[in-house]
Amino acid sequence: MPGFFETSIEFLKGVGPQRAALLNKQLNIFTFGDLIQHYPFRYEDRTRFYAINELNEEMPFVQVKGRIGKKEMVGTGFKKRLVAYLEDETGEMELVWFQGIKWVLEKVKPGIDYVVFGKPVKYGKRFSIAHPELEALTAKNEKGGYLQPVYSITEILRKRHLDSKAISKLQQELLVQAKDKFHETLPQTILSRFNFMNKQGAMINIHFPENQEQLIAAQQRLKFEELFYIQLRLIKLKLVRKEKYKGQPFNDATLLTKFYNEFLPFQLTAAQKRVIKEIYADMRSGKQMNRLLQGDVGSGKTIVSFVCMLIALGGNAQCTLMAPTEILAQQHFKTLSNYADQMQITIALLTGSTKKAQRKEIHKGLQEGSLKILIGTHALIEEEVQFQNLGLAIVDEQHRFGVAQRSKLWSKNKTIYPHVLVMTATPIPRTLAMTLYGDLDVSVIDELPAGRKPIKTIHKYDSHRLEVNGFLQQQITSGRQVYMVYPLIEESEKLDLKHLMDGYESICRAFPDEAISIVHGKMKPDAKEYEMARFVKGETSIMVATTVIEVGVDVPNASVMVIENAERFGLSQLHQLRGRVGRGAEQSYCILLTNYKLSADSKKRIETMVRTNNGFEIAETDLQLRGPGDLMGTQQSGVLDLLIADLGKDATLLNTARETALEILENDPDLKNSENRLIREQVERMRKSVVNWSRIS
Ligand code: ADP
Ligand code: MG
Repeated sequence: MPGFFETSIEFLKGVGPQRAALLNKQLNIFTFGDLIQHYPFRYEDRTRFYAINELNEEMPFVQVKGRIGKKEMVGTGFKKRLVAYLEDETGEMELVWFQGIKWVLEKVKPGIDYVVFGKPVKYGKRFSIAHPELEALTAKNEKGGYLQPVYSITEILRKRHLDSKAISKLQQELLVQAKDKFHETLPQTILSRFNFMNKQGAMINIHFPENQEQLIAAQQRLKFEELFYIQLRLIKLKLVRKEKYKGQPFNDATLLTKFYNEFLPFQLTAAQKRVIKEIYADMRSGKQMNRLLQGDVGSGKTIVSFVCMLIALGGNAQCTLMAPTEILAQQHFKTLSNYADQMQITIALLTGSTKKAQRKEIHKGLQEGSLKILIGTHALIEEEVQFQNLGLAIVDEQHRFGVAQRSKLWSKNKTIYPHVLVMTATPIPRTLAMTLYGDLDVSVIDELPAGRKPIKTIHKYDSHRLEVNGFLQQQITSGRQVYMVYPLIEESEKLDLKHLMDGYESICRAFPDEAISIVHGKMKPDAKEYEMARFVKGETSIMVATTVIEVGVDVPNASVMVIENAERFGLSQLHQLRGRVGRGAEQSYCILLTNYKLSADSKKRIETMVRTNNGFEIAETDLQLRGPGDLMGTQQSGVLDLLIADLGKDATLLNTARETALEILENDPDLKNSENRLIREQVERMRKSVVNWSRIS
C-alpha cells in the first residue's frame, strides 16, 4: 500500500487533474512527497517593520509602515512615473510606479496607513521603492511576524495562476494533512548531538518559518539529512568494495625499475612519488583499487599513469586509459607511445574514428593478450572490446563520466575487477569531489615540477592593444611563440567566427613579418592538423585559435597566451587554457584582454586569475561564483541536483555529515544496532523510491 507521501498530487485539496498535470510537467511534482520537498528558494522578511531612517541600500527587501501623503506624476516619455510619498515618524520616502498607474491612482488613498514591501534604493538623499507590494494596514498585518516563502515556478504556471503564493497555499493544506505522518529520518543520537530540529518541525518551518532562527534550524537539519544520506551511500559502497572486491595482487616491480633506471625523462616530484606509492600499495594489496588522482594542470599526471600501468604490466595484465574527448585521447596516446616504445610495450588507440580493419586488429590483440595498453575514448566501453586480462583501468575525466560508466569499465574483466584509477583533468573543489567521488580513495599531486616559473598573468583593456602587440613582437623576436585565443560558443557562433576572422586579419596586419597559424572547430580535421603541426614545429610564431587548443597541444616554446574577450570565459576554462603555457624553461605570460565594462562576476574572475595560479583555489572560487550545476561538465551527473544543500556554501555541514556517516558505518556496517534503526529504515525507503535513488546513483 502506498504511503501518504506517495499519494498522487491530484488528490490534494485545491489541485485536481488539470493542476496536477501542470505540476507534473512544469515542476516534476507527482506526489505529496514531491510537493513537500519543493522547498522555498528564498524568504521575504516580514518579521519586522523598518523605520524609514533605518533603511540602507544593502537591504534586500524591507517592510515599512506609514501614511501616504501626496501623489503626483513626474517625468516625461518612458521615464514618466507616478510617485507617492510615504511618511512615518522618522522620515519620508518615495514609492514609484512606471506601470499600472491607473490602478494605483484609483486604489491608493492618501491619509490611510499602509504596509509597504519592496527593495529600497537610494536616489539622492531619499529612499524609494519601485513597484512595491502595498496593503492597507490591518490588525492582522500590523503584527508582521512572518517570513514569506518564495517558491520557484515557471512562466506557464504563473499564467495559469499557480504562482508562488498559490504553491504556498497548497503547502499549507498539505502540511495540515501531513501532520504526524512524517517519519523521523535521523536517530535521536544525531539529533541530540547536533541539536537538530526533528523532521516534522523542520518540514513545517522550512515552509512556514516562525522566525529567522527557526528557519535556519530547519535548513540546517534538512541540509544535513540530505548530505548525510548521500555520504552514507558512498561510504557504504566504498566499504563493501574494500571488503568484498578482490583485486589482482601486482607486486613485481621489474618493469617499473627498468623504466626508472633507463628511460625516466626527468626527476619525479616528491608529490608524484608519493601518489605512486599510494597507488602501488593499493595495487599489491589483493583488494580492488578505486582511487581518485587529482592534480593541477601541468602537475604531471600522465607520467604517473604510465608508471601505474607498468605495475600492472609487471603482473602480466593489460591496461586501458579512457579520455573524455578524441583530441585528449590522441594526446595521451602520443605521449604514452613514446614511453611504451622505449620499453617495447605494445600500445594502440581506439576512438570513434578508428577504421574497421584496425579496430578488428585491436580487438584481436586485446583478446590474445598481445596488445598491452589501449588508449581511447568511451568507444572503449563497447561490448566487443574484450581483454584477455585487464588489470588496470584509468579514466581521465572532466567530470563527464558517471559512476555507471566507470563501473562498465570494471566489468571488462569477468573474473576479477580491474583496479580503477580516476584522474581529473582539472582540480575540483573539495565539496564537489566528496560528492562526485566520495566512494573513492583520494591522492593529490599538490606540487608542480621544479624549475617552472609561475606564469605571470596580466589584465589589459582592449584599448591597450598596441602596447600588447609591442610586447608580443618583443617575445617573438627573442624566439618565443604566442597563442591568441578567441571565444567561440554555439549560441553566438556566426558572430564569434567573424570576430575570430577579423582578429586574424588584424593580427596579420600587425605582424607582417611573422608566419601565423589559425585553428578553429569549423575547419576540416586535416587542415586543423596541418596548422597545429606547423605551430608545434615552430614554423609559425603565432597561433590564432578558439578553445580547441584547451586540450591537446603541448608546445613548450609557446610562452605567451593572449585571451581575447576574457570576460566571456569561465574561471576553470581560463585556468585550463592558461595551462597551455608555462611548460618550458622561459618566463611565461598570460594576458587577459577585456572590455572596459565588466560585470561584478567577470571582475572577480579576472582578479582571481591575476592573483593566483593555484587550480584548487580557482576551482573553489568558480564554485562560489557559479554554483555546482554550471561547473564544467557536471550537469550530466545527477549527483548534484540537491534539493536543499548547496555545495558552494555548506562545506562545513558536508564535512560533518561525512564524518558522522563514516563513524556510524565503521561501528555498525550493516546498520543492525537498534540506535541506527531509523537510518536503516530510511535507506530502505530511499532504495524503493526510484526518484530519490536515481539522484545519487
Ligand atoms: P597534467 O597533470 O596536466 O596531465 P602532464 O602530465 O601533461 O600534466 O605534464 C605536463 C608537462 O610536464 C609535460 O610536458 C610533462 O612531460 C612534464 N612533466 C611531468 N612531470 C615532470 C617532472 N617531474 N619534471 C619535469 N617535467 C615534468
Ligand atoms: Mg593531462
